Amino acid sequence: PLKSVLGKGNLDIASGSPGEYVDLVVNSFEYHRLKNWGIKTEILIKDLIREKEKYRGSYHSYDQVVQILRGHASSHPNICRLDSLGRSYQGRWIYCLKISDNPSVEDPTEPDILFDALHHAREWATIEVVLFYADTLTSGYNNDPVITNLINNNEIWLVPIVNADGYVYDYPGQNSWRKTREPYGGATGTDANRNYNGVCGPEKVDAWGFIPSGGSVTHRQSSNVFCGAYGFFADCSDVLANLIRSHNFNVHITYHSYGEQILWPWAHKSPNTPDATLYQQLANTMASLVRASMEATTTPARQYIRYRGRPMAGPTATTTIWVARNAYPIPMK
Ligand SMILES: [Zn+2]
Repeated sequence: PLKSVLGKGNLDIASGSPGEYVDLVVNSFEYHRLKNWGIKTEILIKDLIREKEKYRGSYHSYDQVVQILRGHASSHPNICRLDSLGRSYQGRWIYCLKISDNPSVEDPTEPDILFDALHHAREWATIEVVLFYADTLTSGYNNDPVITNLINNNEIWLVPIVNADGYVYDYPGQNSWRKTREPYGGATGTDANRNYNGVCGPEKVDAWGFIPSGGSVTHRQSSNVFCGAYGFFADCSDVLANLIRSHNFNVHITYHSYGEQILWPWAHKSPNTPDATLYQQLANTMASLVRASMEATTTPARQYIRYRGRPMAGPTATTTIWVARNAYPIPMK
């Protein structure tokens, strides 16, 4: 029964393991419906909003993040440049910290590396990952030879908050909000990570608005995985897409929580990319490093699993799929 429920495609899937379980974010109506359908359930967190209240102080607010970024730019002007990429629907700046030697110069010979976070408003932990990179890189420059070498020979772009409106709405609590905040069709918000456009491929599955069987994406406006009125309808998705379009990124990692998974393309169709072996190797290394560090800090965590795409059918129009679609173009028919 679980498979057929997931096949309906509009559930908010937080994590899972293929053939074993899924973690879902549900309201009480959805929870009872699952029970009525005979699905075995276990409640991990009964009140997500109350749970978040306990931990908010450990996470930085939007304003604090902006201050931190400004601090890096002013204390390390030789390797940091702070850009405002564009505005969210409600007019908040979406910031990018570029870290490189000669940061105001575009060096086409240096690889471009992008880390972004917080497409989904309630995934607060992802911001801290990118802030940690900013801190580690700036403090290690001319102190740590590996970091110095990284900065001198790459252009590293950090976007810690993509969905600024959603974050400012969610951070004070009481919301557990996922989407952006623009109104549409009587509802509010687009899933910023289901709103990336299809590119030029002739395959229908790559187009924005395609709903794969079992994919967690829908045209229903009130849903948490609403794909938007059209591709790049959400201003914040459009802003990040413009940054990606204007550079030739060699590496791109986009952070979400809390799936404890490393996902790589394709998620929504079976053929592998030409770099499948490399992705597999990188994911193996990353997963084992995360596991090692979590044992060291005794943070309780399930195993990081390696999986190509989502455990179930994948969503379309995510950042990763759109970026990969540009990286692995197929000829027009
Ligand atoms: Zn997410």
